[in-house]
Amino acid sequence: MRPPPSGDGSGPGPYARFHDREHHDALGPCLPGGGAGQDERRPEGDAHGPAGQHAELHADVCVIGAGPAGLTLALLLLRSGATVAVAERSRGFTREFRGEILQPGGLRVLDDLGVLAAASGHGAQSHTGFQLVDGRRILLDIDYSRLTGPHNHLLALNQRHLLTELLHACRQHPRFTYLSGHRLTSLTTTRERYTAATTRHAAGHTTVHARVIVGADGRYSQTRRLAGIRHERMDVFDHDVVWFKLRTSGPLPRHVRVHRNAGQAFLVHASHPRTLSVGWTIPHRSWNTLAGQGIEGVKDRIAGALPAHRRLVHDQLDGLGDLTLLDVFAARAGTWTAPGLVLIGDAAHTHSPLGAQGINLALQDAATLHPHLLDVLGTAQGDPRADELLHRYARQRAPAVNSVFRFQTAQAKTMLRTSPLADTVRPVLARLVQHTPLGTHLTHRIAHGRTPVATRTDLFRP
Ligand SMILES: Cc1cc2nc3c(=O)[nH]c(=O)nc-3n(C[C@H](O)[C@H](O)[C@H](O)COP(=O)(O)OP(=O)(O)OC[C@H]3O[C@@H](n4cnc5c(N)ncnc54)[C@H](O)[C@@H]3O)c2cc1C
Repeated sequence: MRPPPSGDGSGPGPYARFHDREHHDALGPCLPGGGAGQDERRPEGDAHGPAGQHAELHADVCVIGAGPAGLTLALLLLRSGATVAVAERSRGFTREFRGEILQPGGLRVLDDLGVLAAASGHGAQSHTGFQLVDGRRILLDIDYSRLTGPHNHLLALNQRHLLTELLHACRQHPRFTYLSGHRLTSLTTTRERYTAATTRHAAGHTTVHARVIVGADGRYSQTRRLAGIRHERMDVFDHDVVWFKLRTSGPLPRHVRVHRNAGQAFLVHASHPRTLSVGWTIPHRSWNTLAGQGIEGVKDRIAGALPAHRRLVHDQLDGLGDLTLLDVFAARAGTWTAPGLVLIGDAAHTHSPLGAQGINLALQDAATLHPHLLDVLGTAQGDPRADELLHRYARQRAPAVNSVFRFQTAQAKTMLRTSPLADTVRPVLARLVQHTPLGTHLTHRIAHGRTPVATRTDLFRP
């Protein structure tokens, strides 16, 4: 993120809680260096980890990061008979303020894996579509019930519940190793190919030797950084987001709504249990000025834009600490593959929350990579065709990801901006989406992606 400057300009402001500090990616080569021997890549200062045991283990695939991308890929591979180790730096899934709106394309992957019902069983909120609202006027209504079922809706599903069920399903497989509280600290190369990942944890270090290392460690990916892969920020979303939740006993909205108001936008949707999740999109670096008005000024501003929720805002936001300023940006890794290594999900391409695409893409990345990785495991050690198979994955997936970047750029311009052009385009777009087959096509694309992804359940072992 671009943290809004604090009073002294050296970091995030003192007002809201601030999530996810800025990480600067090192620029460097994407191919492992070194000659025939082994080469350990450690970030500076990391060589002096805590003393302790050093364990070694072997897996077909080592996945770094137990987010939606990493755990979904792990489960797909396990179902197909591979040996998988997943290293996750945190010890639990209590992650607040993560996107929780799932698109039909992602729901389909989770359903194919048999985890959707269990995850939804913890409580979830179904939505019939997206609406763009200006004052009391609904400018745009993207209705998912126009799509073919069964997944013709959006689902607000707490990531903790989703990840808990994915992990539970992985744990049913004897070929699964879960390294909880393990932070990736170095990658090892052998003959110019990544062959092992070393993690640091409370008891020392663990090295996982694997045919393929998968970086599924999110937008600040350490895998990406250690592999020297560039991460290029994109000018898709030049806003900051302030996030908060409001408990409600009133009727819950059935749509994910974007409320526009004088250059700001509020994303509002119902979450389980009986909560409204609100993302306030503010001009980049404007938070300190807003916060300078104090909590009462901020509350008045929010309530003015969301009159239907005025009471909840005034009753429940007690201080600026109830608001969380979020690190939001769009970016793309310079490459998604290197010999013996592949990046998926946010580690490969990071998206703004607009249109709720990040989890969807992460799940679909996993489903797309699954057969390619099985092909890699089917080659002999050192076979150069393995690299081509990883490239093939990247080539297959790039058009879908690029299409989402283009769509989010257009969305930011038409939904968030206030300009004569945006004001002209918006109603035209609204008519197209609501009343023509192009609208159904567009809705399908938002819901399933440019190319719908099918899970290769035929590759599962009984
Ligand atoms: C405010 C906000 C709202 C959003 N809303 C939505 C939404 O409604 N719908 C949607 O689809 N998307 C949304 N997104 C995007 C979505 O959250 C991400 O795209 C999605 O979580 C990406 O999944 P992932 O598995 O690739 O990465 P992550 O979910 O980031 O998971 C990465 C995992 O790697 C672990 N990790 C990191 N570093 C290391 C390391 N060194 N060693 C070991 N483990 C490590 C992390 O702890 C984490 O568990 C939103 C994003 C933001 C910021």
